[in-house]
Amino acid sequence: MAYIILNKAHYFHNLDILCAKAGGKECVMAVLKDNAYGHGLEEMATLASAYGLRRAAVKNLVEAHSIVSYFDEVLILADHPPMIEVSPKISFAVHSYEALAQFSSSTGLHLGIDTGMHRNGVREDEIEKALTFIAQHGLNLKGIYTHFRSSDELSSEFYWQRSNFEHAREKIQLLLNSLGLPHVVFHAFNSAGLLRTSSLKGDDFARCGIAMYGYSTLDSHIAHPELKPVLSLWAEKLSSRILKKGERVGYGGLYEALQDECISTYDIGYGDGFFRFDGSKPLTMADGSKTKGRMSMDSFCLGGEANSVCVFEDAEPLADAFNTISYEIITKLSPFMKRIII
Ligand SMILES: *Cc1c(COP(=O)(O)O)cnc(C)c1O
Repeated sequence: MAYIILNKAHYFHNLDILCAKAGGKECVMAVLKDNAYGHGLEEMATLASAYGLRRAAVKNLVEAHSIVSYFDEVLILADHPPMIEVSPKISFAVHSYEALAQFSSSTGLHLGIDTGMHRNGVREDEIEKALTFIAQHGLNLKGIYTHFRSSDELSSEFYWQRSNFEHAREKIQLLLNSLGLPHVVFHAFNSAGLLRTSSLKGDDFARCGIAMYGYSTLDSHIAHPELKPVLSLWAEKLSSRILKKGERVGYGGLYEALQDECISTYDIGYGDGFFRFDGSKPLTMADGSKTKGRMSMDSFCLGGEANSVCVFEDAEPLADAFNTISYEIITKLSPFMKRIII
């Protein structure tokens, strides 16, 4: 059966780098959304917590419930307010002023500030209104955050957004005092933002996703320490056969043997969340072997007869081959595949 190997030493290596930059283990929130970027939510939560991280972020309440026992706080980034009472360790990102009205006073909130991405968050001119609403309704404000739209790009945009957030922070701190609201945490940096800076500049922690898993999305001109991919994907052989000269394999018969050759079929397909290749050109496995023909829902073909093959141990070349980003290659991997931690 196809499986995923998670390399604990690589993961801890990446966390060492991120925690050193952020200023300690308490200054990194592990972003474990979307099944920990496809790595496996429970597995990565166990490792993050064993390393000593105390905060995590996930996509929704279902994910939060499955890992809340490992952390002091789990922040939900993209879900709607619950109808039920949730654990005091679970808090929600709030994406607009209007959304505030949907939360009960017991639910922990992190208020998003729109500092230039214009995807989510409260605009600077709505901050006072939002904090006043929070004070009047006795809402449980725990944090203030923003998100960068271009932290990996070689441009001034990142610095522009950061200064917008610093400006907002000063204003918010004054308002918290005057409204009698308690101290809250501030956070803005994602992986790329953290990798390109040397300190959190007054923030309490960084929210790190992709870099924990071993990938940098930073522009190649921006120096950063070497990260190590955590995940490798392995397929196992279903069958071998001799393809005679002139015979063609798979849907559409796209690959034709130019001479008699041994080929094998392996147990990963696009049904497992791997990108479907259409057979117009071969895809290269980690050991250099090339695919033959088109990928099926549950299988694909290679030359040779090895019992197992490492499909990839670095998502970057695949991301290039499929004209996407490493995030998408790893995040799509089926949660039903077995995960093995080594
Ligand atoms: C996904 C996400 C992150 C993590 O981003 P990386 O680039 O993977 O580090 C941080 N903050 C928010 C709000 C996110 O949605």
